[in-house]
Amino acid sequence: MYRSALLSPSEDPMGSAILEYFETGKAGRLRVLSSLFDEDEMSVPMLFRAPSDMSPLERKAMSECRGRVLDVGAGAGCHALPLQQQGFSVTAIDVSPLSVEVMQRRGITEVQHVDLFDPQFIDSFDTVLMLMNGSGIIGKIDRLPEFFKKMKLQLKPGGQILMDSSDLRYIFEDEDGCMDIDLNAGYYGEVDFRMKYRRITGRPFDWLYIDFHTLAYHASENGFTAELVQEGEHYDYLARLVRNT
Ligand code: SAH
Repeated sequence: MYRSALLSPSEDPMGSAILEYFETGKAGRLRVLSSLFDEDEMSVPMLFRAPSDMSPLERKAMSECRGRVLDVGAGAGCHALPLQQQGFSVTAIDVSPLSVEVMQRRGITEVQHVDLFDPQFIDSFDTVLMLMNGSGIIGKIDRLPEFFKKMKLQLKPGGQILMDSSDLRYIFEDEDGCMDIDLNAGYYGEVDFRMKYRRITGRPFDWLYIDFHTLAYHASENGFTAELVQEGEHYDYLARLVRNT
């Protein structure tokens, strides 16, 4: 059964931070709590980063876009806006209603408040962009078949997904490079997060970090071919997943 991940404004901490920063140029602390990492903070201005402030992986992803582009989990629209300005037809989607509002107010013409997995959301794109550990939206390894099924409906034959992710192996490795993980505990890149902003606490959500080989294996099982486009500086990488014709 499909359960929508759509948020309401009262449970949208990241969107609240984005809206406040958009309106005032300032924001409070956007706190990130998780099962794996110590409490952390996400920089809100970073969500409005310009292409010149982006990592080489992100810049590469933007330069690889072609045709009609879907930006999944578009946030403040930092990728969608410059792509639109370059002349691409871009649709930006997000489950955060306040992020959607900000993207509309920033002038992105095609913005939808929709969950990627919503069965009613069907269109036809050449490129699906998923950035800032974009694999996270898939949530858990066992959701990969559903994800690829959905992507087959959203992509034209030969269409591509450009997705970045990280291999969290470094967290579990000892000095000799041996992995200290509990094999019964599920895949080591499955993390759950919760965000807080001012008085708003979001719902917990699953976020998937996946190593390239595991991603490529699941892609091939589900009618896609994975290519490692570029590696980053710290176990991160950009992948292209092409729908087999
Ligand atoms: N891509 C942006 C924002 C990344 S944060 C950037 O690089 O700055 C991840 C975003 O994904 C959040 O805005 C969150 O609301 C959105 N999101 C999470 N699950 C989603 C889903 N199932 N469908 C659409 N958007 C989702």
